[in-house]
Amino acid sequence: MSVWTEQAVARIQADAQRSADTHLIKLELPALAGIDLYLKDESSHPTGSLKHRLARSLFLYALCNGQINQGTTVIEASSGSTAVSEAYFARMIGVPFVAVMPRKTAKAKIRQVEFYGGRCHFVDCPTQMHEAAVVLAAECNGHFMDQFRFAERATDWRGNSNIAESIFRQMKLESHPVPTAIVMSAGTGGTTATLGRYIRYKGFNTTLVAVDPENSVFYDVWQTGDRSLEISQGSRIEGIGRPRAEESFQPTVIDRMMRVPDGASVAAMLWLEHLCGRKVGASTGTNLWGMLTLAAEMHQRGEQGALVTLICDGGERYLDSYYDPAWVAETLGDISEYQLQLKGVLGGR
Ligand SMILES: *Cc1c(COP(=O)(O)O)cnc(C)c1O
Repeated sequence: MSVWTEQAVARIQADAQRSADTHLIKLELPALAGIDLYLKDESSHPTGSLKHRLARSLFLYALCNGQINQGTTVIEASSGSTAVSEAYFARMIGVPFVAVMPRKTAKAKIRQVEFYGGRCHFVDCPTQMHEAAVVLAAECNGHFMDQFRFAERATDWRGNSNIAESIFRQMKLESHPVPTAIVMSAGTGGTTATLGRYIRYKGFNTTLVAVDPENSVFYDVWQTGDRSLEISQGSRIEGIGRPRAEESFQPTVIDRMMRVPDGASVAAMLWLEHLCGRKVGASTGTNLWGMLTLAAEMHQRGEQGALVTLICDGGERYLDSYYDPAWVAETLGDISEYQLQLKGVLGGR
């Protein structure tokens, strides 16, 4: 290993050492007495989302594989949080970073990548991102990170302070330290893979429930086992749902899957702000709707226990989309049916 690689790994490790763990927030819902609900707040990472963990893992993985060396340009196909977090780590170790993204990507995100010293390379439509990243990497002898392929294997699923280990450690002093279920949506599928493998490795009596938005094949792939399924539409819930079964998506680690209507995701996202004064992204709404569905089932059966899900990112980036009622009405239609359901379950909040 070169001195440069050694130093790059050490820098990322030192950064992790200086960083605090993310909070596990407990929701107070009197209507669901006996069922404790928790949110693991991944929006509190320095780059604002759960992709901070992924980016750190992908960089360490590629460095230790010898794929990133001094001066290697790192390339990623991402219009979202992954590009922002990877730009942060690229700057930390002093390598150039290029994010391949659709031309119509929100200006705020482009600015964030550029803020961390990254460059944005634009393609006309999302389906061209992967190929463009491969070509770009070949042209400059760079390294294509390929999150949708490597997310599931870059993270140490047995421990090393991964998100699953952190959740179970933080639950230790709760009334129900082993949650009945952990709920998570899938983008790369990396987080569900880590959660599911860790639960089984430790032998916890916890069900891993994955939630999927409307325009995504993950749910059908999980049900049928057919990885060749494809759809033409992209997901309307940012960060989750894919039109094809990306390699990183591991259906066999998931115990149960649920499809969540996009309107329900946004209704749950808005409802969380009333409950705890926090703006979050729409994928957190998908997670929350899934968790509340499970809570209602448990309540009906007279069961007690704990449920855990994630705040994937904050809501500040979505003020002119999910937080704009006109945008929601135009893009997703009427969501009042879901808002009414939330009121019903949760006693008027
Ligand atoms: C990536 C992402 C997810 C899904 O996480 P994966 O580990 O990639 O499956 C959920 N929400 C947001 C906002 C994301 O960026």
